[in-house]
Amino acid sequence: MPLPDGVKTVADRLSAARLNSYEDQVRREVLWIFSAGATPRIMTLEKQCGLPSVHVREILHRLSGMDLLLLDTTGEAVLAAYPFSATPTPHEVRLRNREVFALCAVDALGIPVMLQETATILSRCAYCGSPVEVQAQPKNLTRYLPADIVVWSPTTEEDGCCSLAQSRCPSISFFCTGGHLEAWRHASGQPAGVALSLLEAFEVGGEIFGSLLAQPEPPSG
Ligand SMILES: [Zn+2]
Repeated sequence: MPLPDGVKTVADRLSAARLNSYEDQVRREVLWIFSAGATPRIMTLEKQCGLPSVHVREILHRLSGMDLLLLDTTGEAVLAAYPFSATPTPHEVRLRNREVFALCAVDALGIPVMLQETATILSRCAYCGSPVEVQAQPKNLTRYLPADIVVWSPTTEEDGCCSLAQSRCPSISFFCTGGHLEAWRHASGQPAGVALSLLEAFEVGGEIFGSLLAQPEPPSG
């Protein structure tokens, strides 16, 4: 498990949250709407979940308080829900017949695993800006260019000022080579973190996001 110790993922926050069935229904619907290439809004969630808008609004605020998603300033739309962003990021993920944006490099790599479908990730080296392309199936990487892509995962935790989507995600990036990651670290004051190979980052992404839309265990007894 190459993820640095002490880094809490959305999967950790979700399991600690112990959501009730309504909260979990809304959380899942938000992810499904994002995965269809749309932005989740109260009006749509109200219809899809069969819940009154006042209830949907309350639930979204609770989920936002647990940093499971991020609301816009009006509270009417979801700006981000790990791994998705409603606004463009450097990490575009092409799925069958639609495209979505991921909050960071690891989130992008988690999407084919979470949705159990083939994806093409188009991003850029965070140092030189050259294109990075990764094709992935739910269980393996099928093609990637350039050949020596690495992913940077910072160990510094957020300072509590804002969500991880705003604080940590922007620095989880692809680099075209280990050399460009080193050059970027040098230029950025040697931040703490780990370099993951592309395969390691794909495994971390699968570990974090693979369970987010899985069906819950049926109650025992
Ligand atoms: Zn580069």
